[in-house]
Amino acid sequence: MSGRRIAVIGAGMAAARFAERYRASGGTGRVVLYGAEPRAPYSRVLLADVLTGRYDAEAIALPTGDAELRPGSEVVALDLDARTLTLADGRTEHHDDLVLATGANPVLPPLRGLRRPDATGLRDGVHALRTLADCADLAERAMSAERAVVIGGGVLGVSTARALAALGLRVEIVHQGPHLIERQLDADAAAALREALRTLGVETYLGNRARALTDSGEVELAGGYRLGTDLTVLACGVRPRTALAHAAGLEVAAGIVVDDTLAASAPHVYAIGDCAQHRGAVHGLAGPAWEQADVLAARLSGADPDARYTGSRPLARLSVGPLEYAAFGEVDLDEADPGGTPGLDVLRLTDATRGSYKKLVLRGDRLVGAILLGDLATVGDLARALERDAALPDPPLHLLTTHGAR
Ligand SMILES: Cc1cc2nc3c(=O)[nH]c(=O)nc-3n(C[C@H](O)[C@H](O)[C@H](O)COP(=O)(O)OP(=O)(O)OC[C@H]3O[C@@H](n4cnc5c(N)ncnc54)[C@H](O)[C@@H]3O)c2cc1C
Repeated sequence: MSGRRIAVIGAGMAAARFAERYRASGGTGRVVLYGAEPRAPYSRVLLADVLTGRYDAEAIALPTGDAELRPGSEVVALDLDARTLTLADGRTEHHDDLVLATGANPVLPPLRGLRRPDATGLRDGVHALRTLADCADLAERAMSAERAVVIGGGVLGVSTARALAALGLRVEIVHQGPHLIERQLDADAAAALREALRTLGVETYLGNRARALTDSGEVELAGGYRLGTDLTVLACGVRPRTALAHAAGLEVAAGIVVDDTLAASAPHVYAIGDCAQHRGAVHGLAGPAWEQADVLAARLSGADPDARYTGSRPLARLSVGPLEYAAFGEVDLDEADPGGTPGLDVLRLTDATRGSYKKLVLRGDRLVGAILLGDLATVGDLARALERDAALPDPPLHLLTTHGAR
C-alpha cells in the first residue's frame, strides 16, 4: 500500500462506493471513511423496506473494500492548506486527498407548529426519514398509530407512504404539485400510480399545501381543511450538506461546486454524491452518486487518470405494492411544451389488460427519456439505449415490447 492517505468525509452511499471501487481498481492508498452516524455505510434506498420489516439493518450494509471505518466521527473543521481535518472530539488528522461525501439533509417545510415550543427539534409525532435512526423512530411511532400524513409526493414520500400502509396505517399524502413524482413521471403514469396507492389504502391530495400543524396534532391544508393524524412524515426534498465546505472557503452554490474531474475549488479536494453540484445540477439520487464515485475512484486509483464525469440522466425505480415503475431521463418534455418541441417524438403503449403503460421520448433518432409502468421487461434495454446515446432503429419498437427485445 502506498503511503497516500485519502480522507472521505461522510460514510454514506457515495463514500462506500468510492472506497470499494478505489481498492477494486487497484488503488494502493489508505482510505479512511469518517461518518457522523454511529454505524457502517448502508443503502438508504432500502430504508422503506427496513421500515416494513422486509430487511433488517444488517441486510442493507454496503461493502467498503478494506477502508478504515470511523463511525460516530463527525468532522467539524477543515484546514485546506495544512491538509488536516478536525473531529468533534478535538483531534486533528492529516490527509493527502480529501473527498467530501457529506450527503444531504431533509428540507423542513415552513409549517406553523412544526417544532417543539422550545425549538429543540421536531414536534412529537413529526418525522423525517434519512437515516436508520430516523427509521427506528418512525417504526416505533407507527406501532401505536392508526393514521399517517405524508407531506410531499415525490419518490421518498410515495415509498414511505407505501411502507406505512404495509404496516396497516391509513395514509394520506399531501402533495403541492399537479401529480405525484412530477420530476420523473408524466400525468398518465402518475394517475395509474395514484390509483395503485389507493388500493393499498393511501389517499392522495394533489395541488394542496400543508400550512400548519394544529395544537391537537392535525395537519391543516392551505384551504383550511384539516387531516387528523397520529404521525406526520416530512418528505419535502433534500438540501446538500455544505456547511463544512463553505466554512473551509470552498466554492458552494446549491451544492459544493465540482468540475468534470469531481474536483472542488481547492487542490486535492473533491466532492461526490448528494453534496456535490456538477454543471449546475444537484441530483439527490443514488445513481449519480455512484457514477461520480466510480469516476473519482478510477482517477485517484490510477486505473483511468483521465476519467471524466459528464453528468447523469435521472433514473427512478420503485415498487408500490403490485405496481412497479421505472422512469429515466427527460419524460415530460412533451407536457412542458404542449405545442410540440421541434424534433421531439413520443411513443406510448397502454395495455389495459396487463395494467401497463410505456412511453418513450425521442429527439430525432436518440432516446432522451422513458417511463415503464407495470411491465419492466425492457428496462435493461432502455437503460442501455439511454446510456449509449446512439441512433436507434426506426421505429424502436423493441424498446416497448418484450417480443424481439434485444
Ligand atoms: C428513504 C430514502 C429512499 C431513497 N430512495 C431512493 C431511490 O429509490 N432511488 C435513488 O436513486 N435514490 C434514493 N434515495 C436517495 C439516496 O439515498 C441518496 O442519493 C444517496 O444516499 C446519496 O449518497 P451520499 O453518500 O451522497 O449521501 P448519504 O448517503 O446521505 O451519506 C452522507 C453521510 O455523510 C455523513 N456526514 C455528513 N456530514 C458529515 C461530517 N461533517 N462528518 C462526518 N460525516 C458526515 C452523514 O451523516 C451521512 O451518513 C433515497 C433516500 C432516502 C432517505
